[in-house]
Amino acid sequence: MNRGYAGFYKGHYLRSSYEYAYAKYLDYHSIPWSHEDSTFDLGYKLYKPDFFIYDQYGNLIKIIEIKSRNKEAKIEAKRALDIIIERYNVECELISYEELLKLYESLPFSLTSTITEWIVSNNTTIHKAANGKLNGHFNLKHGKNTKKIIGEHTRKLWASDSPARRKMLEGLKKSGMKKGYIKVPREIRICTECVKEFKVLVTSPQKFCSQSCAGKVAIRNATARYMDKRKSIRNSLKDYIVKWSIDNKEIVLETPLNKIKPTMEPLVINIQKQFGVKDFRVISGAVFGEDRGRKELIRFMKECVMKSYAELTENEPLEPEDKKPLG
Ligand SMILES: [Zn+2]
Repeated sequence: MNRGYAGFYKGHYLRSSYEYAYAKYLDYHSIPWSHEDSTFDLGYKLYKPDFFIYDQYGNLIKIIEIKSRNKEAKIEAKRALDIIIERYNVECELISYEELLKLYESLPFSLTSTITEWIVSNNTTIHKAANGKLNGHFNLKHGKNTKKIIGEHTRKLWASDSPARRKMLEGLKKSGMKKGYIKVPREIRICTECVKEFKVLVTSPQKFCSQSCAGKVAIRNATARYMDKRKSIRNSLKDYIVKWSIDNKEIVLETPLNKIKPTMEPLVINIQKQFGVKDFRVISGAVFGEDRGRKELIRFMKECVMKSYAELTENEPLEPEDKKPLG
């Protein structure tokens, strides 16, 4: 707000001559507007911007905050608008004296004369006074009711196929408000799958150029996770077999190559309990990376036992009778 002149214009309680000047600018272009429609929760405060512009479908297309030339107030407003842009994807603009001057360049009346008009108008009063008890006319309830009526009026104008509607649409287009639906900046990223460039909002989490690329990567990741899991189960199964073989040396060494299953019953039961596997082909696969049959599996287990003996005797050559069961 600035200069302290607040008052009613078209049923909206405007808080400064700048707000009035901006409303007049919108009116000149037949742009339908609303004032202080919504409150935004910015996390650190509640914030109610000044002007709200909707398109013919009722979509909020732009929010405008009017500020005096006070630097700190402008910085604070900019901060609030940036949060709204990021969170709500709505274009926002901060307007002060300099911006108003520019907007008024194309109008047939001057900014100064408009401001003066507001100050001398019977509908305005000094804001400080209006805030107090001086003028009961400026209470919030009245403002809200009037706003509701204005809102209904605007909706009706949009709904009808009236010259007013055409004028309003034209105004939106001419002013450039319609085209800039989203003003969140975009950036160019490179698809990590196909190396194609694509453009997205800087706030977007998108990593790939298309659904197709994202799908390929998702499938590959899922497969890799599955393979990792299988590999880790295989490794622990193999470790388990090695340990079991050493712990049960006698059984392993005495098991004939062609009769592995009946004598290995305890191993098979334990593997089934711990890994959900009972098929020797799967167990063999875990050990060798492929099914090499029961004979190869029991050979491997016997080797494990022999190796453990070798380690115990600190690399001394194996005794001949130790080799005997291997045939
Ligand atoms: Zn791609």
